[in-house]
Amino acid sequence: MDKGAAVVVFWFRRDFRLDDNAGLYYALKSVLPVLPIFIFDKEILSQLEDKDDPRVTFIHQTIISLDSELQQHGSGLLVLHDKPLDAWDKLLNSYNIKAVYANHDYETSAKARDEAIAELLKKHDIPLNTYKDQVIFEKDEVLKNDSKPYTVYTPYQRKWYQALKQFYLKAYPNQKYFNGFLKVKAFDIPSIEKIGFEKNNREFLPIYYKELIAGYPDKRDFPAIEGTTHIGLHLRFGTVSIRELARTANGFHEKIWLNELIWREFYMMILHHFPQTANHAFKPEYDRIRWVNDEMQFEAWRKGETGFPLVDAGMRELNATGYMHNRVRMVVASFLTKDLLIDWRWGERYFARKLLDYELASNVGGWQWAAGSGTDAAPYFRIFNPDAQLKKFDPELKYVKKWVPEYADFTQYPKPIVDHAFARERCLKVFKEALSK
Ligand SMILES: Cc1cc2nc3c(=O)[nH]c(=O)nc-3n(C[C@H](O)[C@H](O)[C@H](O)COP(=O)(O)OP(=O)(O)OC[C@H]3O[C@@H](n4cnc5c(N)ncnc54)[C@H](O)[C@@H]3O)c2cc1C
Repeated sequence: MDKGAAVVVFWFRRDFRLDDNAGLYYALKSVLPVLPIFIFDKEILSQLEDKDDPRVTFIHQTIISLDSELQQHGSGLLVLHDKPLDAWDKLLNSYNIKAVYANHDYETSAKARDEAIAELLKKHDIPLNTYKDQVIFEKDEVLKNDSKPYTVYTPYQRKWYQALKQFYLKAYPNQKYFNGFLKVKAFDIPSIEKIGFEKNNREFLPIYYKELIAGYPDKRDFPAIEGTTHIGLHLRFGTVSIRELARTANGFHEKIWLNELIWREFYMMILHHFPQTANHAFKPEYDRIRWVNDEMQFEAWRKGETGFPLVDAGMRELNATGYMHNRVRMVVASFLTKDLLIDWRWGERYFARKLLDYELASNVGGWQWAAGSGTDAAPYFRIFNPDAQLKKFDPELKYVKKWVPEYADFTQYPKPIVDHAFARERCLKVFKEALSK
């Protein structure tokens, strides 16, 4: 079969943008025409429990708009629906590929996929060139002076800012090279139904942060206020560039927000160096905790029917929108692990199913923080009181009334499924037993 003229391939994964995209920049700067591709990975899709998973709709919408942008440059996005190795076999049979470009992907399963593809390509003498794009600093770029990874956030943050002084935050000028895309007639993009899913009608919030971050320090802790950026979804799928965000976050107030983006990189670094923590406690002795794991209580938590209004509001917000405010994530996670003594991994999996901004590293980091088993130095006896949290962070009950309308009528609203004072004592006892062995 005639495979046509020589090309290089750019493989989109979680970096869905043409501008300021590192791997795409290097592909476009190579002398050969660039064929952009995306693979709907059957292995990932088969693990999703919900046929109307909104993240699939988001990806689908995003690749359609990428494809129309590419069409403006006489090109198009080739979309496959396959297992990655099979997809690459087909690509190798159809195109005369000289090199493949992509951006680094850090999760364990993604790294294994990339190793397998690199090996396949190597058999054909094709290099897989990958670049840092998703983060400002990755893996081994912010280490202690003895070259070991940090395990505590604050000194990591300090070193991160030091490293930033030597770092070039400018955008990659991809636009200059857009005539380097392979000229094609439009490709057919498979419909959502064709890949086995249904369209979800959820509305995805656009990228909107510049106006918000100046007020961030004062507003970020109150779930009833629009005080945080909801940018997580866009960071997850790369519809926004991290370099652009870091450039914008320059002033004193904005730095408080930038610190949160550094948390994201801290957790990614932790997962890279301690991959076992995806399923095991960072502090191994916490794996000895004897969880109660009551299925009915777990169900009440999932549905937002625990009788604790802030917990219930958070879970209902999550179920309805795929989002939950950070303060409330901390409260519901503490409630599940400490008050109900349910294994943090159950909560982590449920969040993984529901969160639009789901990110393995941050999710595991957040859950282990709540369970006390993570990198944080705070002791396990920090147990949130859900009612005190409500008084402090939703004093006018605006958030609660929005998500739990029946709260006002005590005949309608469920009684608490656990007594907090009792649960607190029980938790202290069970944790102490596990940790003093
Ligand atoms: C139990 C638990 C689970 C969590 N799971 C996730 C997850 O799966 N994915 C995720 O991105 N964040 C997770 N977080 C962190 C945080 O709650 C969300 O990033 C934040 O609420 C997203 O809202 P936003 O985009 O409006 O954030 P903003 O407050 O506007 O912050 C901007 C960005 O900074 C990053 N960020 C903010 N806070 C944190 C943090 N504590 N840790 C790591 N990154 C942070 C995110 O990328 C976020 O989008 C979790 C926190 C907890 C306590």
